[in-house]
Amino acid sequence: MSDFKSLAVPGVQKLKPYIPGKPISELERELGIDNIIKLASNENPLGPSPKALAAIENLLPELALYPDGNGFELKKALAEKHSVEMDQITLGNGSNDVLVLLAEAFLSSAHNAVYSQYSFAVYPIAIQAIGATHKMIPALGWDSDSPLGCDLDAMAAAIDSQTRLIFIANPNNPTGSFLPKKALYDFIKQVPEDVIVVLDEAYLEYSPESMRVDGSLWLSEFSNLVVTRTFSKAYGLAGLRVGYSLSNPEIANVLNRIRQPFNVNSLALKAAEAAIDDSDFIQKSMTVNARGLDQLSACCDDLNLRYVPSKGNFLLVDFQQDAMPVYEHLLHNGIITRPVANYGLPNSLRITIGTEEQMQRLTDLLPAACQ
Ligand SMILES: *Cc1c(COP(=O)(O)O)cnc(C)c1O
Repeated sequence: MSDFKSLAVPGVQKLKPYIPGKPISELERELGIDNIIKLASNENPLGPSPKALAAIENLLPELALYPDGNGFELKKALAEKHSVEMDQITLGNGSNDVLVLLAEAFLSSAHNAVYSQYSFAVYPIAIQAIGATHKMIPALGWDSDSPLGCDLDAMAAAIDSQTRLIFIANPNNPTGSFLPKKALYDFIKQVPEDVIVVLDEAYLEYSPESMRVDGSLWLSEFSNLVVTRTFSKAYGLAGLRVGYSLSNPEIANVLNRIRQPFNVNSLALKAAEAAIDDSDFIQKSMTVNARGLDQLSACCDDLNLRYVPSKGNFLLVDFQQDAMPVYEHLLHNGIITRPVANYGLPNSLRITIGTEEQMQRLTDLLPAACQ
């Protein structure tokens, strides 16, 4: 047999695969227990938007047909929501799809892309798969104003003539850290116009409204800005895979050339369109999240565990020792959290905020888990 790994393109040979949160069914098989809760993938504990569920119920008999490859109805609804033109929207099989399309369209082995340490694992994977250079900029320290947050000055300084893309998640995953409006705006303003800034707003709905940064409002000012959003988190549709980007039409046109013709399935298109209007559900999700975040933060305070103040639906907790025994303890009691050693944070776990009941079960276990 050939050594197929050595036949792969150089960027792919060096890749470390993405490590997802452990599925509930896998833990059930391994431990033979039930009543498991998964707090590992920042999913919505309330389930999908009920409006989305109702909308797809009648669609099953139509599954023999290809979806609308242009996603007309969903784009129309999104254009209205964001006050943009339909030709500024690129739909994706999750926003992950759009992130990969951006890398494929704008990077080659001659280029580099800039992102922060402790940001979303998909960025280096997308960049490296192309064979482009990934420039990971060290994050701020625990004792800074924004623990483990992006060092925007250092990111700006890292831009050179070969830089084509900059990835920034706000709020950021896995840290939950957050860039305030002015700092982010000033950063984008100084980026050269031929360098595309990808602002990943997967958790925007969870950031408190008073301080929310909505990058889509800057699209008319910055032709090199791409904002990505997803239905996977607050809208509770992670299993359907649907997300999108907003950009100037020329960038959308480029992405449209390389996307798969039917990259968003028909159930996802329909569910997303219905979920946009479900503001009650989003409101409820925000309220449940804020309460759970307080519950978990208070428990960490009691246990003297430090954590990154989070503007997302998860908390990065530092156990100041190898986090794997804590992870295992929780696992054996039916709670799946997310180890983040692959991000260079072996002492931390990222814990998704669940319902009040789920958080109670977790906080009851944490004292013993930390022993
Ligand atoms: C979850 C997440 C996404 C969204 O992924 P989908 O492909 O839309 O499910 C994007 N960016 C970040 C930072 C995330 O954490």
